[in-house]
Amino acid sequence: MTEDVLASGGDVVCRPWRGASAKPGLFGKRDFKVNIRDGTLTCPAGEVEPFEPGAVVQFDPEACGPCKLRSSCTQASSGKGRSVTMGDDERLQQRLRSRPQSRAGRAQLRERVGVEHRLAQLANRQGPKARYRGTRRNHFDLRRLSVVQNLEVAARYLRAS
Ligand code: SF4
Repeated sequence: MTEDVLASGGDVVCRPWRGASAKPGLFGKRDFKVNIRDGTLTCPAGEVEPFEPGAVVQFDPEACGPCKLRSSCTQASSGKGRSVTMGDDERLQQRLRSRPQSRAGRAQLRERVGVEHRLAQLANRQGPKARYRGTRRNHFDLRRLSVVQNLEVAARYLRAS
């Protein structure tokens, strides 16, 4: 869906989505530096590997083996290096991550606060999983929840007036 928006010349303004969380006590992907322009990934010890979007980057076992940071980085068996999975949309994710670092980017994100609150309320109401199989039924369910939510807002306004 984001691809459709970008392909039609639109912009995606949201927080970056969270990838798989790191194993406790180990470096996560965020501890690695992604250089989109050069197509490289740099680990916390400074080892650099090239990457392709959507591919798994394997760090050189020769570098990982004697690395002082190994115990904080990987539980791979001896003779294997750390691996990091890159997203298909790595470029977009990097853009979303860098947005809060600029004043203009923060201002753009603030415009979303109202929408984010409504979406969070819907997510609380619905729970973390889709209720039905298939897009059509879940689309219907989302509309049903939105109607309930809007009615609650209307009821609050009426009570307050
Ligand atoms: S274990 Fe490998 S990937 Fe991890 S910090 Fe060391 S050299 Fe880098």
